[in-house]
Amino acid sequence: MARPSVRSDLALFEGYHSPQLDVSVRLNTNEAPTPPPAAFVDAIADHLGEIDWNRYPDRAATALRSKIAEIESPQRSGGFSIDHVLAANGSNEVLQSICLAYGGAGRNILTFEPTYAMHSHIARITGAAPISVQRNPDFSINLDMALDTIETERPAVTFLCSPNNPTGMLETGDTVTRVLDAVEAVDGLLVVDEAYGQFAPWTALELIDESRSLVVTRTFSKTWSAAALRLGYLIGPTWAVNDISAVVLPYHLDALTQTSGLVALDFYDEMTARVESLVAERERILTAFDELPLEYWSSKANFILFRPTAADGNDVWQQLVDQSVLVRNCASWPGLAGCLRVTVGTAEENTVFLQALTKILDPSSAR
Ligand SMILES: *Cc1c(COP(=O)(O)O)cnc(C)c1O
Repeated sequence: MARPSVRSDLALFEGYHSPQLDVSVRLNTNEAPTPPPAAFVDAIADHLGEIDWNRYPDRAATALRSKIAEIESPQRSGGFSIDHVLAANGSNEVLQSICLAYGGAGRNILTFEPTYAMHSHIARITGAAPISVQRNPDFSINLDMALDTIETERPAVTFLCSPNNPTGMLETGDTVTRVLDAVEAVDGLLVVDEAYGQFAPWTALELIDESRSLVVTRTFSKTWSAAALRLGYLIGPTWAVNDISAVVLPYHLDALTQTSGLVALDFYDEMTARVESLVAERERILTAFDELPLEYWSSKANFILFRPTAADGNDVWQQLVDQSVLVRNCASWPGLAGCLRVTVGTAEENTVFLQALTKILDPSSAR
């Protein structure tokens, strides 16, 4: 039997894969290391009885979007309203919806590599042409090359990840503004992916304006300790929210997700406390890294990219797995030869990780 063939532009295309191995210390996908408070689960249980299970959910996710607007309002003078917010199943669905609305066949979508692989991946599966500008060797953005490429290639959508995954580096307001000016000059849209925004001291949310072609995406998967929920959102000008809302499937956000997201937002103080303790742990790991034979990039997120200087990245990754510690192996990713990325875990997990890594890289000093 002849099987149907996939779209020719997707032939040889491999899907997303990060190994889900059974280890005791999992520091590979940048999730929060601890669950939300027990009261979160109790509150969701209380709300289950209120769902009209035989009816479609609120298509506009009104309550959830209003609450997100309220929570993010302090980030911009003038605040946000429900009309600035679009919620979806993970920020990945938000990114896909952006690409469906503004990208598609015959249009370019620009990324600054190395960065979050899903940006170019989603650009491709939605039919656009992914184009990229290589970052400087220190992973900062090469602004001259960026502005040049935007002017000549006229990307419909430009993705800027800040803090950037996998480098952890934060963009400055000046860089974002200069890229935004260039993007607007070619009638494009700038998307700042802030999946790790709350870990960082600066957010592009303050630049959101009706007259600017900028949207910011955020997620419940990292800072909110709710990766299982699959909930993300976009904040942007009302015209962008309208444009993008037109391409999402009707009732895409189910009642359980809407309810759970609303409940999660009641635990804002717990979220910020968790973020603070993860930032402190991140700094502890960075200090410990100073004593090891490796180079690392200073992170403003909940993960750190590093490269062993006297050992092979793949070997180190495998030896960590042998000690039941899983980190992300970026050693074979373009531009990241020999690099590994560790997610900040609980204090105990980080200690286990640091001891295992010390044993591998510097056996003489390991206790
Ligand atoms: C983890 C991550 C996301 C999150 O995607 P979700 O679909 O919300 O889980 C988005 N962007 C970046 C850069 C990430 O690292």
